[in-house]
Amino acid sequence: MGILDGKNILVAGVTMDSSIGFATARVAQEQGANVLISNFGRALGITRRIAKRLPTEPPVLELDVTDQDHLDGLADQVREFVPHLDGVVHSIAYGNPETLLGGRFLDGPWDDVAQAVQVSAYSLKSLATATRPLMGEGGSIVGLTFDATVAWPAYDWMGVAKAGLESCSRYLARDLGPDGIRVNLVSAGPLKTLAAKAIPGFGDLEAMWETRAPLGWDNADQIPTAKAVCALLSDFFPATTGEIVHVDGGFHAMGA
Ligand code: NAP
Repeated sequence: MGILDGKNILVAGVTMDSSIGFATARVAQEQGANVLISNFGRALGITRRIAKRLPTEPPVLELDVTDQDHLDGLADQVREFVPHLDGVVHSIAYGNPETLLGGRFLDGPWDDVAQAVQVSAYSLKSLATATRPLMGEGGSIVGLTFDATVAWPAYDWMGVAKAGLESCSRYLARDLGPDGIRVNLVSAGPLKTLAAKAIPGFGDLEAMWETRAPLGWDNADQIPTAKAVCALLSDFFPATTGEIVHVDGGFHAMGA
């Protein structure tokens, strides 16, 4: 008996087996969910190969969250496999590492900032509205953030995009609550994924966790984050929405 028994879950944003989305798909399947995963563009082939490494090979959907045709067709794509969704995971972010990250904050060009905000923040709204027709019985949407209440070394414009994502999740919680749809985020500590490796200077952030996280922090272990996402997808948080759950070894609660 798992906490997601019989639930249909879409995990958007799986590229490698290091992706937080991959670990989430794994834990969700282990907890009884029927999982679909998605990715976009050239990496779709990689996602299809990686999908075979999950306990059960899930359907792989194509979804570029900036492509309105993909968003419009998403519900029909999902219905080819399941009649409705109980949960949606948004595990998606992008910011040009050459112009927006690694200490170039004051020079970040608007076009790249706009892309980062669209892919990393606005897309939570896009994904929520695209899947809303599939969640007629209510459901749970969970996204991933990196604590945007403070400024970090290197994170720069992605931090601004994450602040937008955090705010977006609260407004979605307000507007989708009456439909029985909960919207929450997990704020994870630094994890060695493709997205993180692309951030110049991300090692400085990782080093801080080594000394300040009271529970310790394994930056190669996506499972604690995935478990929290699955808990929020489950029926064990029935009265929680607009929330941000920290999965960071306790780092956020320490002053120094
Ligand atoms: P990841 O494996 O690179 O996952 C990011 C995913 O976003 C990739 O599958 C990527 O696809 C996808 N993506 C980018 N642009 C997209 C678009 N236009 N449409 C659809 N998908 C798109 O890295 P991750 O670390 O697991 O990231 C997952 C989430 O966790 C992100 O929101 C990230 O900010 C967040 N997070 C990560 C950390 C960390 O330290 N790693 C910490 C806190 C929060 P491609 O690979 O094909 O570009």
